Amino acid sequence: MPIHEYDCVKCRRRFEFLARRQDQAPTACPVCGGRKLLKAFSAFSVAGPPPPAACGAGDASACRSCPSGGCPHSGL
Ligand SMILES: [Zn+2]
Repeated sequence: MPIHEYDCVKCRRRFEFLARRQDQAPTACPVCGGRKLLKAFSAFSVAGPPPPAACGAGDASACRSCPSGGCPHSGL
């Protein structure tokens, strides 16, 4: 089950919400009961790790041993 993070607008707390269904969302903040909630996007929701800073810098030959699977030069 996916865990979504939400930010409460009222008390500015961030809390995790376990969604039993894909479209399920919390109706109120568990801390203060506030109804205004914003979905927070954590780094874990991004597909794949970002490539190192050296990747894409121009020298593709120096990038072949790049440990990142998302490196655009790893296939060269
Ligand atoms: Zn709150």
